[in-house]
Amino acid sequence: MPGPQVTAGGPVRDDHPAPLSRNEREAPGTTGQGPYLSVVVPVFNEQDNLGDLHRRVAETLAPTGRTWEIVFVDDGSRDGSLRVLAELQRKDPEHVRVVELLRNFGQHPAVFAGFSVVRGQVVVTLDADLQNPPEEIPRLVDALEEGHDVVGGYRKEREDSWFRRAASRIVNYLTARATGIRMRDYGCMLRAYRREVVDAMLGAAEISTFIPALANSLAKDIVEIEVGHAPRLRGESKYSFWRLIKLNFDLMTGFSTLPLQFISWTGALLAVAGFGFGIFLFVRRLIIGPEVEGVFTLFAILFAFLGVQLFCLGLLGEYVGRIYSEVRRRPRYLIRRVIDG
Ligand code: UDP
Ligand code: MG
Repeated sequence: MPGPQVTAGGPVRDDHPAPLSRNEREAPGTTGQGPYLSVVVPVFNEQDNLGDLHRRVAETLAPTGRTWEIVFVDDGSRDGSLRVLAELQRKDPEHVRVVELLRNFGQHPAVFAGFSVVRGQVVVTLDADLQNPPEEIPRLVDALEEGHDVVGGYRKEREDSWFRRAASRIVNYLTARATGIRMRDYGCMLRAYRREVVDAMLGAAEISTFIPALANSLAKDIVEIEVGHAPRLRGESKYSFWRLIKLNFDLMTGFSTLPLQFISWTGALLAVAGFGFGIFLFVRRLIIGPEVEGVFTLFAILFAFLGVQLFCLGLLGEYVGRIYSEVRRRPRYLIRRVIDG
């Protein structure tokens, strides 16, 4: 008889005490000594921007009298970013925290990593490239304090290429359809969230996701305020054509079953058209007589079958889609508080 089946690299889960929870912080609302505001910044090869960013955030937040921290998430940078961040942390240990990821995971997973360690009641996300002016943070926080759950930034004058703007228009349209929440600018990462919303996002189990859309599907009171946008001065955009396409696919499949429904509808239409054509041929035969060699009848039958097949495929897809949304295990409901007694 082999002994207990614990081998190196084998399944060890059952033999551990409790698995580490993904969210190792205190429950919301109980952060005793933590700062009030946490700024989360994903960093991927941004060494020339980080010093300025830290200085501008500090200069903006110092006069507001709020306690704050800035959580830099180094997303596997290959330049000197990590060194610069470590230096900033050494100089300003009270405010700067650095999370280093094992490799490059992408902007949204990096922000998630930041979320998992924030201590503040209010969480602001910001790009590292200074395209989102840090000077806007107090306005976002003010708006949140008026009672909203999520405050999104909306870039009126956007300083990006037309290609980048066109891609964003598609994203905005699809996300608005999928989440049912119309926002003018889903791509803007200059946003503020209540801690409860951040905790809810951490509770969503899917891996590919798009933070602004996820937040909107988990929060009730969402507003958008206009924020400035600057051109990128140093470093280059990390979003190539293919990365943008991948992001859009994450968004489309992550937040809607629209593509699957499209197959069903095409199938249904084809089937109806084929069937209709068959009836037309039948009536025509009664009135005018048979057509040449029955070729068109064959077409009608073909289309009808093709349609039925496609429809079934779509139906199958519908189920797969449902399984997919189940395995993502998003929280079914979120209770803000219970009033009784
Ligand atoms: N970013 C990241 N990991 C990546 C790609 C980007 O952490 O794999 C960060 C990047 O450092 C920046 C932010 O995400 O802080 C936005 O990236 P970028 O400015 O390149 O995007 P764009 O402004 O072109 O949308
Ligand atoms: Mg940018």
